[in-house]
Formats: sequence, C-alpha cells, structure tokens
Amino acid sequence: MAFGLAALLAAGVSAVSNPRPPSDFPVATDAKIEQVGDTVRLTMALSRPVAVTATVIAGPDRAVIDLPSVNFQVQPANARRGAGFVSAFRFGLFTADKARIILDLAQPALVTKAEIREMRGGFGELVVELKRAGRAEFQAAAAESAARAREASAPALPGAGKAPGETRQVVVIDPGHGGIDPGAVVASISEKSVVLAFGTALKRKLEASGRYVVRMTRDDDRFVPLQERVAIARAAGADLFISIHADSLTQAQEVRGATVYTGSERATDAESARLAAKENQADAVAGLESEEGVQDIAGILMDLAKRETRTFSSVFARNLVERLGGSVKMHKVPLRSAGFRVLSAPDVPSVLIELGYMSSPRDAELLNSESWRLQAVSAVEAAIDGYFERERTPAGKAAAAVIAPKE
Ligand SMILES: [Zn+2]
Repeated sequence: MAFGLAALLAAGVSAVSNPRPPSDFPVATDAKIEQVGDTVRLTMALSRPVAVTATVIAGPDRAVIDLPSVNFQVQPANARRGAGFVSAFRFGLFTADKARIILDLAQPALVTKAEIREMRGGFGELVVELKRAGRAEFQAAAAESAARAREASAPALPGAGKAPGETRQVVVIDPGHGGIDPGAVVASISEKSVVLAFGTALKRKLEASGRYVVRMTRDDDRFVPLQERVAIARAAGADLFISIHADSLTQAQEVRGATVYTGSERATDAESARLAAKENQADAVAGLESEEGVQDIAGILMDLAKRETRTFSSVFARNLVERLGGSVKMHKVPLRSAGFRVLSAPDVPSVLIELGYMSSPRDAELLNSESWRLQAVSAVEAAIDGYFERERTPAGKAAAAVIAPKE
C-alpha cells in the first residue's frame, strides 16, 4: 500500500519537475562499488570518455569526483550502498557544465586512482580507487584541494539588478535543494522535485498577473549553493525572496501542515533550530566547503538594514500564514523563525515556506496533487499582493537606502 502510493506520487511529480538533462550529455550507467583487498573501487560505464578530477574534503570526510555534465542513468538506490570505509555515495549535476560524485568516508582515505578507460566502440569506463590513509595525510590532501578550489573559483552570477525603467516588483522564488542534493526523500519522491514543481507553478501564476518580474534561483534539477541563492536575489534587485521546502520527520508521521519561517539568529523553538541546521547542511551535502563569514559587509549600518529587512520579512510572513491558513492545512505553530542561511540577505525581505511534511502520508499526497498546488499557489500570490499593497514604502527599499549604493 505504501509502495503503491509512492509509485503514484513519483509518476505525478516526475512529469512536471524532472527536466531531463540534454541528450547530448554522455550517459553514465551501471554504478558498482566494491572492496577489493584494502581498496574500495567505484566503476561506472560511460557512453563516451570524459575528463575526470578527484579531490578530498575534510569534516565531514568525503572524496569528490568531478566530471563534465553527465546524464546519470543510475538507480539512486545503488548509490545509498557503500563498501568498506565508503559509507555511501551520491551523484548529480553540480552546475550547468559540471557533474559530481561524492563518496562519504567513514575513515580517512585518499583517491589513488581516478581515470577514464577507453573501451571498445567509443565507450568509456570511470574507475575510482580509494585507499585508507592516516588522519594527517588525509588532512594535508584536503588542505591542498581546498587551496586549489579557492584559486579556481569566482562564481558567475546571472542578472544584475532591475532593468532600467522597470517599475514592477521583483520576486525571487527559490526552490530548495536540487541536483546532487535531493533534500528530504520519502519512498521514491524527493523534496527537490516537489518544491521545483511548486516554484514553477508560482512563477507562472505571478507572471500571468503582469504585476511582477519573477526570477528563480533554479528552474531545473541542478544544485545551487546557499550563498549563491542569496546572491541571485540581491543581484536581481529582489523586493521579496521566497524559499520553498517540504521537510520530512522520520519519527512523526502524524505531524503535518505548512509552516512559514523567517530568519533570525535565535530560533523560536528547538524543532525550528534543528530544521535550519539541516537545511544549512545543503552545501556540505553537495561537497562544498562552508563559506561562513564570507559576506561581512560592515558593522552597524548593516545591522540597521538587517533590522529593517526583518520587519518587512515578518509582515510578509504574517500575510502568508493568514492567506495560506485560509486554504490549506497549517502546522499547529505556523509562524516561526530560525537561522536559515538562505534567508541571510541583509536587504531583501526573505521567508522560507515549508509546504508540508513529506513524512506524513496525507501531506505527501497533497504536496503532489495539482489542485492542492494551485490552491496554495493562489494563496501565496494573494499574500504577495497584500504585502505590496500594504507597504507604501516598497519593502527592501528602506533597507537598501540604509546601505546604499546597492550593487
Ligand atoms: Zn529542504
């Protein structure tokens, strides 16, 4: 029975929100992981040879294998398996032109081989081998990888502020997770697909009204780092940032309903703090180093801007709870706050909506139903309309003025 529901839900979601990678990507199949003597070996068949690089990252310890874009046709269940000191591995598109495989290490290990063998018929085979290493040796390799990554990276951001003469409000929708980071997974449904379907429907609805310019932090199944999501909103000159999630609780299937969160250093309750900590792990899940403290723009003015922005965020969050509550089931404490990193833009009012709990069979069914989605999307739109009508000083502008000029 549970299986039947899962299969049904999976079929419904994939049609909307699992855009297939371009067909000209090489295809990876037949992932196999095994221990041979003191070596753990991962192999995958490829439709043609590609370039491969390997690095290691400490805390949590992982080995990271980078490839150009690859269309992974590998059963996700295979990847949950580990072998020897590799407890599990996962894979997915990391950026538009990069794919990544991450191996979780239960003990320090080094990549002793990462190569593509050319096979007959123009095919390729990825072969990755790892051997256990001492802690010091592993740390040294991780430090070297981190230094190389810092040199190489300066992320390019799409868009730059409002177009000249644009008077409509800019709303940035942020479907959580994506690519290598599936978010909560219940049966065969992943949070990343559910929230992308919702975000896409919300974008369509808002655009149809003609009142808003709408941008999304991702509109397909790709990974976007948390700081980049914030940066996209700021670069777009966003008046409002809405992050969409759908959590899961392993222990409590009866907990259900939607919750609206705002950002704050102090969480309103322990459950919210735990949830924020989990969502903040998204970068680590995808094998990114934490970038804590990267954006420290400047003391007191920033604090002031933040306070302004927070006031606007709260106003919008209350609007949302009111409107959503009129048409969908809400959590018993529907308005809360915690330290979500994705809600950290100092000058863009930001909220995070947990649409419901995928761990609740009833919620899971609703989250995937077209009629529920349209109802909830309409409620969010009404909340956005109400917010911009109520605030005569367009939200965010007061904050922006404090820290001007905004880049
Ligand atoms: Zn999430």
